[in-house]
Amino acid sequence: MEDIFRFVDELGPIKVVYISLPQMGLRAVVAIDNTACGQAIGGVRMAPDVTAEEACRLARAMTLKNAAAGLPHGGGKAVIFGDPKMPPQQKETLIRAFAGAIAGLTEYIPGPDMGTDELAMGWVYDEIHRAVGLPRELGGIPLDEIGATGFGLAAAVEVACNAINLDLKGARLAVQGFGAVGKHAARFLSQKGCILIACSDSRGTLSSAKGLDVSSLISLKNTGGSVIDFPGGEKADTEAIVDIPCDIWIPAARPDVLNKTNVGRLKARIVAQGANIPCTPEAEAILESRGILVLPDFVVNAGGVICAAIEYHGGSESTAFGAIDDKIRKNTTMMIEESRRAGISTRAAATALATSRVQNAERARRWR
Ligand code: NAD
Repeated sequence: MEDIFRFVDELGPIKVVYISLPQMGLRAVVAIDNTACGQAIGGVRMAPDVTAEEACRLARAMTLKNAAAGLPHGGGKAVIFGDPKMPPQQKETLIRAFAGAIAGLTEYIPGPDMGTDELAMGWVYDEIHRAVGLPRELGGIPLDEIGATGFGLAAAVEVACNAINLDLKGARLAVQGFGAVGKHAARFLSQKGCILIACSDSRGTLSSAKGLDVSSLISLKNTGGSVIDFPGGEKADTEAIVDIPCDIWIPAARPDVLNKTNVGRLKARIVAQGANIPCTPEAEAILESRGILVLPDFVVNAGGVICAAIEYHGGSESTAFGAIDDKIRKNTTMMIEESRRAGISTRAAATALATSRVQNAERARRWR
């Protein structure tokens, strides 16, 4: 067994549970990082190769994200070891067995993550009546369909533009990864007057200095096409999105896409992190040293988890949009102000803000 205590600190993880039910073919780990603010919310990932240590790091990221968003929830993460592309019947059996195994772990609320979806959360709910990211028929708010995370990103970008005196109307936008997060961020920002001048997906980059039609691009993506199938515009390889000069650059694809080998090529004023950990720490430091305003992932891509929390507490889609807008605007404002006041990075300011919320909750509960 890995030495879990090696990476325990004063916040957590408070509980790491290994599940092994060989007769069901189930092996899983659940990391509950911290529950001072409330039951831990975090995704159930299905993957063949995640370590318990990684599950704990992902659970910590959820503690910070939920605390930064001011949600009454702590952070957790679960990993079911397996191939997410296994036959559907086998997947359902495995996920139902997992749900049964965590029935007594009431401080953890499972949600969808890589390799699981709302259908899977429906199975979990059916077994234990505790899950978020549910199908609409079970009271869920389909967060990817409504664009919860992209909506929150757009709110954060608006605050950031005000902070650097950049007019959102006419601002040039480039989006890396035109999936659930990226396409909705482009949609909401174009409604605020931004011009989408470039976007990319795993097949390539599309750009046009005059601007691209966002709704046609979304229809193309929704019917299985790639941005490079779009009629018009210039086409290039996937990595070319880094070279497009713009005002706002949104990574919404994969981790570590900006690193020390390519960060010097980026020409933007704001980097709004839709994806989780899209910049290596070195790349992020370089961006900050060049005066580019970095909006860190766990503050500005929290729209999805805010939506999930609203769903859990019985709220509606419109309540979710209101909460996302309110929380992300406030937190982005506080983070930028604190970073300027203390002369620290936006990530350091946001981490301090989130950590102090968790510590205050611990004090209020007399855990400290
Ligand atoms: P998605 O699968 O819907 O979309 C990802 C898009 O990125 C696809 O269009 C894919 O073609 C493209 N892509 C993959 N590799 C690429 C590359 N190298 N360059 C350019 N494009 C590439 O996924 P999503 O739900 O939009 O999530 C995107 C990222 O945001 C992930 O890191 C995810 O963990 C994170 N995130 C998602 C949410 C959410 O609400 N969905 C919330 C917070 C964070």
